Amino acid sequence: MPIYEYVCPSCQVKFEKLRPMSDGHAAQCPTCDAPSPRVLSVFTAISNSPGGEATAFAGGGCACAGGGSCACAGEA
Ligand SMILES: [Zn+2]
Repeated sequence: MPIYEYVCPSCQVKFEKLRPMSDGHAAQCPTCDAPSPRVLSVFTAISNSPGGEATAFAGGGCACAGGGSCACAGEA
């Protein structure tokens, strides 16, 4: 199950929830119960990539800055 990230529009609290793919559109804020829209996190981007992690790294979104710990190091 993917982890989705949400930001409450009312109190700006950021929270994460494990949700099934079919139910990833909104969640209730744990603080004020307001319906909160999903925001794209790194985890979400990787989970939704058709090609998996390799696709996400090839997009230049990796934070390793060529440190050699991930697949993007060869491109820098
Ligand atoms: Zn809230």
